[in-house]
Amino acid sequence: MFCKFCGQEIDEHAVICPKCGRVLNSSGIPQQQPQYQYQYAAPSPKTNTLAIVGFILSFIVPIVGLILSIIGKKQIKATGEGGNGLATAGIVISSIDLGFSLLGAIIYLAVYGSMAAAMCGAAGGVSAFLPILL
Ligand SMILES: [Zn+2]
Repeated sequence: MFCKFCGQEIDEHAVICPKCGRVLNSSGIPQQQPQYQYQYAAPSPKTNTLAIVGFILSFIVPIVGLILSIIGKKQIKATGEGGNGLATAGIVISSIDLGFSLLGAIIYLAVYGSMAAAMCGAAGGVSAFLPILL
């Protein structure tokens, strides 16, 4: 290509003209600039989609979030994609959510069971709900 300042023929990839010493900005090399930007952007890996979706769903639908996060983590291990921390967070958050849900279900059953037991008569009620609680 030619330097736009002094008109001398110079190297295609020159950033500074060796003839006149001026800095060649992007308008001087319109075709080259996007390629350089792409080359710099390429080495950073893209974040795994399942890790992102799994992380978000871990707050909303913990069981689905947990499954997607685990699959995402396996994919990250296999492909070297980004988002390993996100997948781990998704697994931890959905596990905690599931733990609370399970705890809530147990408390609900225990309360419901004891209420039913009180209503139906202690012996009959407890024996009826024992299989569910265990
Ligand atoms: Zn020049």
